[in-house]
Amino acid sequence: MYCLQWLIPVLLIPKPVNPALLDTHDMFMALYLLGFFLERKPCTICSIVFLVTVSLICYSGIGKCLLWSTNCDTVRCGNS
Ligand SMILES: [Zn+2]
Repeated sequence: MYCLQWLIPVLLIPKPVNPALLDTHDMFMALYLLGFFLERKPCTICSIVFLVTVSLICYSGIGKCLLWSTNCDTVRCGNS
């Protein structure tokens, strides 16, 4: 479970309020995670735990998914 301590902070980083920065933020998160998995090679258990956590967050509909912005944020849905 040691490698999880590098992954938990990623889940806690808040999304930017400015909608112009959302895409940049998503890209940064994706690149960070890609680099992390390539460089640190977390063990299988930690990887699975992390992926399950991200999936739960993304599909629970609380609008805090860190990888994409499919959830209805107040920022994006307010204009349409
Ligand atoms: Zn581990």
